[in-house]
Amino acid sequence: MIVDLHCHTNSSDGVLSADEIITKAEENNIEMLSITDHDTLAAYKLITRETNIKLITGIEVSSEWAGIGVHIVGLNIDLENKQLNSLIKNQQQAREDRLNIIVLKLNKANIDIKVSDIKKIANSSIIGRPHIAKHLVDTGVVNSFDRAFKKYLGNGSIGDVKSLWAKPEEVISAIKSAGGVAIIAHPDKYKMTRTKSGYFFDELCEYGLDAIEVISGNQHQDITTKFSRMANDRNLYASIGSDFHREDKYMSDLGKTKPLPDDVNPVWDLFC
Ligand code: AMP
Ligand code: MN
Ligand code: MN
Ligand code: MN
Repeated sequence: MIVDLHCHTNSSDGVLSADEIITKAEENNIEMLSITDHDTLAAYKLITRETNIKLITGIEVSSEWAGIGVHIVGLNIDLENKQLNSLIKNQQQAREDRLNIIVLKLNKANIDIKVSDIKKIANSSIIGRPHIAKHLVDTGVVNSFDRAFKKYLGNGSIGDVKSLWAKPEEVISAIKSAGGVAIIAHPDKYKMTRTKSGYFFDELCEYGLDAIEVISGNQHQDITTKFSRMANDRNLYASIGSDFHREDKYMSDLGKTKPLPDDVNPVWDLFC
């Protein structure tokens, strides 16, 4: 079965609309799909077309653990749940505040950019670092998107502001309150040692974590084996997603990851 439970639309930092994502999912023979935009459920209100694909509601929530920016995916959530929508509202305010802080920090570093110009780039009110990165490229501050992240926005740089996000326990609690399952997104991206990843997973298990994204995008087989074991050792389910944002020769296309290994428990056992 072709499953993709993590991707983005232009309601956050992806380029396709919700309808265009569903069309692409059909072209790629996906049978189960979740749109998981950053800190917003807006895409779900914009779907206008019918499909035979099994659509699972979803979101990717930004958080912070031990000084590291981490992402938690919630799947099969009630879109109208009060606790979740209140958390999302706070996250959107945090995004707005963070944008102002990042621009101020860059201004202090003699980079002359304005919040209003960055807002013009985004299709929605969800402004992310990719929009800032694009503006830094458009205005000639850097010559590539990668360089914008390396120099100004990525981990450890001046634009790496994550202290405003909700704590993992708050995120997991809101997802559970909405009847959903809570999943650690792309665990390999956090560059934690194996020991630290273990501590991270163990702590989130105490808050009710259900699953880990054992497959995220085009990752190496060794990574899949590592996180499969870590999931099984903790009786966690395994999720899978391309984290598709746009067509990019280095990144996975929608639904084009390797399948989950046979020896893990697929997360859809919890909602199918
Ligand atoms: P934000 O949600 O504003 O914190 O931005 C995070 C998003 O930026 C991720 O979901 C990716 O889409 C993108 N991103 C993060 N790191 C990089 C990077 N090094 N290069 C390009 N895009 C990145
Ligand atoms: Mn993104
Ligand atoms: Mn993410
Ligand atoms: Mn994502």
